[in-house]
Amino acid sequence: MNPRTKSPLQLPLTSLRGIGPQKARLFAQLGLRTLQHVLFYFPRDYEDWTRRIPLGKLQPGQEALALGRVVDVDQRGTGLGKRVVELLVEDDTGVLRAVWFNTDYVLRVVRLGDWIALQGKVRRGPHGMLEMAHPRVERIADPQHHQGRIVPVYRLCQGLRQSDVQLAVRSALRAAAGQLEDALPEPFRQQKGLVGIQEALEQIHFPDDYVRLQQARRRLVYQELLVLQLAVQLHRQRLQQEQSVPLEVTDKIDGRIRRLFPFRLTAGQEEAVAQIRRDLARSFPMHRLLQGDVGSGKTVVAVYAMLVAVAHGYQAALMVPTEILAQQHYQTLRRLLARSRVRLELVSGQQSRKERKELLGRIKAGMVDLVVGTQALIQEDVRFAKLAVVVIDEQHKFGVRQRARLQQAGPWHPHYLVMTATPIPRTLLLTQFGDLDVSLLRDMPPGRQKVHTYWVAEDQRQQWWEFVRKKLDQGRQGYVVVPRVQGGSVPSVQQVLQQLQHGPLKGYQVEAIHGRLPSVQKQQIMQRFVQGQTQVLVCTTAIEVGVDVPNATVLTIEHGHLFGLAQLHQLRGRIGRGRHVGYCGVFARADTPEAQQRLEAFVQIQDGFQLAEVDFRLRGPGNMLGTEQHGQAPLYIARLPEDQPWLEQAREDAQALLAQDPRLQDPRWDRLRHLVLRRYGEVMDLSHVG
Ligand code: ADP
Ligand code: MG
Repeated sequence: MNPRTKSPLQLPLTSLRGIGPQKARLFAQLGLRTLQHVLFYFPRDYEDWTRRIPLGKLQPGQEALALGRVVDVDQRGTGLGKRVVELLVEDDTGVLRAVWFNTDYVLRVVRLGDWIALQGKVRRGPHGMLEMAHPRVERIADPQHHQGRIVPVYRLCQGLRQSDVQLAVRSALRAAAGQLEDALPEPFRQQKGLVGIQEALEQIHFPDDYVRLQQARRRLVYQELLVLQLAVQLHRQRLQQEQSVPLEVTDKIDGRIRRLFPFRLTAGQEEAVAQIRRDLARSFPMHRLLQGDVGSGKTVVAVYAMLVAVAHGYQAALMVPTEILAQQHYQTLRRLLARSRVRLELVSGQQSRKERKELLGRIKAGMVDLVVGTQALIQEDVRFAKLAVVVIDEQHKFGVRQRARLQQAGPWHPHYLVMTATPIPRTLLLTQFGDLDVSLLRDMPPGRQKVHTYWVAEDQRQQWWEFVRKKLDQGRQGYVVVPRVQGGSVPSVQQVLQQLQHGPLKGYQVEAIHGRLPSVQKQQIMQRFVQGQTQVLVCTTAIEVGVDVPNATVLTIEHGHLFGLAQLHQLRGRIGRGRHVGYCGVFARADTPEAQQRLEAFVQIQDGFQLAEVDFRLRGPGNMLGTEQHGQAPLYIARLPEDQPWLEQAREDAQALLAQDPRLQDPRWDRLRHLVLRRYGEVMDLSHVG
């Protein structure tokens, strides 16, 4: 498409007959301003009017879809203070009455002489006449065309009717006929068995039958996913043009690093390390996602990557979501590096101004090798002399899109490793995280214990606490987790603490920790728990993520229905870490079928990956990730995970296309390239494609 000549597709909707400024404003509310917009405004559903029943054939008791012309409109009050609106419709075969009580909505939608569709249950009314009470009603623009058809149903806004959109789409299709330029060249389409764009748009809006609807949908889904996959891969390409420092891992370096670990790496860890070694040796930055369930041993892999940087005389940084985790990682690393000369430091919110200034000075001067901290590390005043590896431990948070850019002096980009404990389903990896390489830790370090999970009924509370006391008496420790959102019937951490201290855990050492405490105090509380002085810790999810206390084996979750599946799984990952079997008891109400399924899945399934798939099915990708947050355009027609096979196909094809033509410069891809750039050029920074 030559962008200079104005295509009719770019004309405003007011250029269509029947759409004035007023109606155009309504369309605009749906984001529809041009012909192109309405053509790509896909139906959210279809009504099958092939199943329409002629009025003369209707039977009482039938759930039916009927079509007729309005021949009488009546509105009256009854003696009982009710108001009745009554329509009489007819077709060539008979008549039907439709009644509504106490609403005159229908009078605003329907006029005498209109063709309308009625959907509802048929019954015998007064004088033996067939009627529908409160049927769904829809005005039909073009009854001839609707006869025996599959009719599109669009998402509407106040003031706009299905018939308005149908009419606009139909006019737009007519105006665009012969002018639509296909982004997929004919030979390519034939090879893939895809229908042309004109046919696809016609059939997606006004399908002749289900087969052609499917073909149309397939074509449009494929195109949408192909465009996405091209964008994702072009974005990767862009990242690969950045400069980084190649960090070769010699056998000597490898040996020196491994000597620090008190155990042999698992097969999964070995594989991840091998992949990371390959990444680091390149001159462009690594962008790798390390996925591994809670407790799968991601930290060691991260340490390996960071120590490679240090071995080459560069700096590395580890960024974690909370201050407590920063503390904990710092301690872990200190133990691990005790026998090395690595200069390790923690940047913490608790340091005094003076301390901080001094520390930042040393980081900037290159006198610190390995820095641990929170988001604070991205702050302006933290500058690195020669940062080469950045590890971001996100635990269950999805922030991968906003990968932090740390400030550093060198003219290169550091290598990035992002760790997540939330298994990301493949469909999401290919869409939202497609620019990252992925390493997977599927196996657990040896000796990991099973966690028994129970959904504890209200009348079993006593028994549960009895069980908890037994475990505490045996020397174990436990957590009690309370939802972060409080109020109403959900008690605060403090309230739960009180209840426990005066109730089931009277006489035991119980403490509470929550986000509003000063961090020094939080740290002391954690310290006492880690050292076993405190037996039970009451907390919210904000705090506990990533905490590693092997002696803690009993986890009680209050109001479990208020937690997401991923969160529940994270919480469970806190126990069963040591030699002792873990026990998790969830108190929960299942108010909705979804909550019921979620909790059942949690009790039955241990594997985080399987749980993530369930979660994905129950909640859909949008909710899971907060797509908006990632600034990524939504998908308009493809549905995941159902369309995953098409996603895989699109990914393969995108790879093949770019392997031949890395920038899609061949003129036959002009339109496709334009589509990619229009849709994703900005969000994915594809300025190199042009
Ligand atoms: P996560 O993936 O949740 O961050 P960690 O890195 O904290 O997991 O590891 C969990 C525990 O497993 C830690 O106590 C760690 O020392 C231990 N661990 C890690 N790798 C191994 C291994 N290969 N063999 C034995 N224990 C290991
Ligand atoms: Mg961890």
